[in-house]
Amino acid sequence: MEHPYKTRSGGATVTVFAPYDCNNNCPFCINKEEYADTSGFSLEKICESIRLMDALTPLCDFVFTGGEPLADLDALQVMLDCVSPSHRVFINTTLPVLRNHSEAEVVAFLARNRNKITCINVSRHLFHYVEEGDDAIFGRLPVKSRINCVLFGDHSPERLVPFIKRFGKYRVPIQFRSDYTKTTPENLYDETNDSILADLRSILTPTILEGCRIRCNYEFLDGSHVISYHKTLPYSTIVETGDDGVTYDILYDIIIKQNGDLHSDWTDVVLDLDRYRNVVFEPSDLHRIF
Ligand code: SF4
Repeated sequence: MEHPYKTRSGGATVTVFAPYDCNNNCPFCINKEEYADTSGFSLEKICESIRLMDALTPLCDFVFTGGEPLADLDALQVMLDCVSPSHRVFINTTLPVLRNHSEAEVVAFLARNRNKITCINVSRHLFHYVEEGDDAIFGRLPVKSRINCVLFGDHSPERLVPFIKRFGKYRVPIQFRSDYTKTTPENLYDETNDSILADLRSILTPTILEGCRIRCNYEFLDGSHVISYHKTLPYSTIVETGDDGVTYDILYDIIIKQNGDLHSDWTDVVLDLDRYRNVVFEPSDLHRIF
């Protein structure tokens, strides 16, 4: 049955898949398969969808991901130029400075776009799954950055501590992430069986837990260096009956695929544009738990 849409004020986050791949093969990657056949990929159609979402929800967040958004700086510029300045813009990247572009070119690109880019989320892991440039680039980035680290396999304190110190040196916050394909509504807030949480608590000072229906975020400090631990469900639509007695599909994420198609979830559900034009807004349900 079709339910009307609801989303948080400002609109669901729009994640745009760059129409070109990365050079990596991370074992936890669920996007890689989509880059095997590039025949339907279209920068033009992606831009049409960005402009549409820009007009529908002028205050939503945009996230560029991949693949590797920074692998083709000209194409990324075209996409960024479709986004109005009213949005926050995040780029998920591995900073592939050793491949198509030199470090100087990447830094110059980010500097030119510093007013458009809110933060770049750079993938670095305890094991070397991704092509990595020199860490010194973190001292030269002209935009805010954060490390995104999926904890896959051994995450003992002996491995975590050097990793934290490596980026603490550059004052770059770290967000550790669990393998979200394993997250369920039952274990999202479960602390007793969460070995990652136990390891982080054994070496860091806990500060904040905030969360909502589909994700939660624990914050820690190592001195003044901020480290977080993020858990999220593998889907982003919650079906719920509101106080008004109406059952809604509550959307957290909208996805623009490599061919420009719009989806309302990570699970290949196509976005119904007419329903989204009539979306009901609610205040963000992200709240501090402690
Ligand atoms: S860098 Fe990102 S897109 Fe590429 S294989 Fe790793 S997780 Fe997948």
